[in-house]
Amino acid sequence: MELKSLKDLYVSELKDLYSAENQLLKALPKMAKAATAEPLKKAFTAHVAETEGQVARLVEIFDELGVSPKGKKCKAMEGLVKEGAELMEEDADSDVMDAGLIAAAQRVEHYEMAGYGCVRTYAELLGEKSAAKLLQQTLDEEGAADKKLTTLAQKINVDAEEPDEEEVAMSGAKSGRRR
Ligand code: FE
Ligand code: FE
Ligand code: FE
Ligand code: ZN
Repeated sequence: MELKSLKDLYVSELKDLYSAENQLLKALPKMAKAATAEPLKKAFTAHVAETEGQVARLVEIFDELGVSPKGKKCKAMEGLVKEGAELMEEDADSDVMDAGLIAAAQRVEHYEMAGYGCVRTYAELLGEKSAAKLLQQTLDEEGAADKKLTTLAQKINVDAEEPDEEEVAMSGAKSGRRR
């Protein structure tokens, strides 16, 4: 892909986001399944629905541009998803797993926020008003998803720090924590 203008870069970055969102659509249900705390499961599931809407917004923008959304693979999201998959393979205490899932998900949200912030600004500069509005909507959703995770972490991180009741019971029988 030739990048001769900001418009070319705009399209290239949009394709990257389209790839990123589609990779995330496959990963989020797995994260919801791996989560134990009900509010965290719900947050991941809700973000699946939101992500579908975000993909639809990108498709709308590509339609308007008369360009295919395909042709790029977001390697950063591939890596972030891989790190999440690696975590989910660990034999972790459920609270600790939940805390880890939040950490993985917040990396994803921040990556998306950076991407959408850039393309939103390019759209404004290029006079693509309706696209700028759609991209701002998604940016706001990603920001809200990140904030929601921070709120959930306030309880989940504390739960992860404390030994489980099960572990306390076991430490009476044996000695020390299980993990
Ligand atoms: Fe997204
Ligand atoms: Fe990317
Ligand atoms: Fe890393
Ligand atoms: Zn997101």
